[in-house]
Amino acid sequence: MTTAPERTASARLLGLLARDLPPDRLSTDPAVLAAHATDRSGSRPAGEALAVVHARRTEDVTVALRHAHALRVPVVPRGAGTGLSGGATASEGSLVLDLSGMNRILELDADDQLAVVEPGVITADLDRAAGAHGLRYAPDPASAALSTIGGNIATNAGGLRCAKYGVTRDSVLGLEAVLADGTVVRTGRRTVKGVTGYDLTALLTGSEGTLAVITSATLRLRPVPVATATLAAYFASFEQAADASYAITRAGVEPALAELVDGPVLHAIDPALRERGAALLVVQCDGAGAAAEAAAVARLMAPLATTVQTTEDPAEAEALLAARRLALPALERLGRPLIEDIAVPRSRLAEAVREIRAISARHDVPVFTLAHAADGNLHPIVVVDPSLDRLPEAAWEAAGEIFALALRLGGTLTGEHGVGLLKRQWVAEELGPAAHALQRRLKEVFDPRGILNPGKCL
Ligand SMILES: Cc1cc2nc3c(=O)[nH]c(=O)nc-3n(C[C@H](O)[C@H](O)[C@H](O)COP(=O)(O)OP(=O)(O)OC[C@H]3O[C@@H](n4cnc5c(N)ncnc54)[C@H](O)[C@@H]3O)c2cc1C
Repeated sequence: MTTAPERTASARLLGLLARDLPPDRLSTDPAVLAAHATDRSGSRPAGEALAVVHARRTEDVTVALRHAHALRVPVVPRGAGTGLSGGATASEGSLVLDLSGMNRILELDADDQLAVVEPGVITADLDRAAGAHGLRYAPDPASAALSTIGGNIATNAGGLRCAKYGVTRDSVLGLEAVLADGTVVRTGRRTVKGVTGYDLTALLTGSEGTLAVITSATLRLRPVPVATATLAAYFASFEQAADASYAITRAGVEPALAELVDGPVLHAIDPALRERGAALLVVQCDGAGAAAEAAAVARLMAPLATTVQTTEDPAEAEALLAARRLALPALERLGRPLIEDIAVPRSRLAEAVREIRAISARHDVPVFTLAHAADGNLHPIVVVDPSLDRLPEAAWEAAGEIFALALRLGGTLTGEHGVGLLKRQWVAEELGPAAHALQRRLKEVFDPRGILNPGKCL
């Protein structure tokens, strides 16, 4: 429930925004508010947001933040709303700052292999534009056709290729961002190297809209690899597939991607796939040595797998990867998938898989598992009845045990989706009291009035 002073501040803010923003930027239409209320995590906001600002330029962001800061109204930055942790969920009475309309590629410099983009650029659009110059934007979240660069940076998104090319942070050279009080700051650089001052670019990357609003990014591009080779192997058990993936790491082979799909997911995609094995591991090697690396991977898999298929043909490779790409849509046909996102040391992957199965059995909660195996990032997925208002208690308990398992194995609560709303209650345990307190103090330095995406991340 909002209080009387909050209602006065809200009314004043709406008046100031209507006065200072161009006419098409502000919306209080209930349908627009509803469309901006949550993300793909399925988390439900407690009340209704105050308004949506559709930013088209940095000045719109500075105006919105300056007034919201003065009146202490919470602001929720938003890209495409594909987040899976509730990060863009609009709190009651908040101002949603929709960055998706700031979607221009401002510069694409093929010589220095970089791009300068606004935050609302769709990830795949940047990759396509870079492709015209023989380059690519390496981070490739499975949501690349929908998600924005700003959202990717705010969540430090991962993707299939991050096993070799790193997460989003490894491709961000510099940022323009607006602080809570409306001050514009520029961080980072255009050079490949550079260590002047604290690394604010790295700090803002992954800060989930709680420290500043990103209004432009200078991003590293990389040459498209000269060759790729792809393998798909089926296994009699998920643990064997996890062991095979660790064998690749141990042998010193660095694949561009290694994706693991368990039997229940294969069955959800197509029962015929499940008949081929209890788990599928798809591995792609790239670069001049792709064929030799793929041959080495095939040799490592042979004693563990039931079948191994290899191709250097891009269309066939796409067909081998199709099962991984179809996994989430297949689970969405069964119900509402709640996607967890733990990461464990790669040496503990098979152990994590075994324990997740035991947790699933103990709570009688079916858990479907996908993994970015080459970086130890597991997505255990609980599918719930979409008509349910609340998550069943057993599903919460299973999720809690999966988080505890990740920490016990020396891993983390979230490999790529971020903490958002959903994992907040476990953050202090992972960070420990001293690091948690330090992070809270950092938040206060950036946002002393606590208006930026309150209640998320920390
Ligand atoms: C089918 C599907 C597949 C997915 N696959 C992956 C995957 O492989 N890897 C992965 O990492 N994620 C994945 N995701 C999750 C999601 O796509 C990513 O988290 C993505 O980075 C979110 O981008 P977005 O533009 O939708 O951001 P939103 O969901 O709108 O926002 C996410 C967070 O970023 C903040 N934010 C957004 N824009 C800004 C900005 N300009 N400045 C400051 N803060 C901002 C928001 O406040 C929020 O906290 C997937 C999601 C779906 C639905």
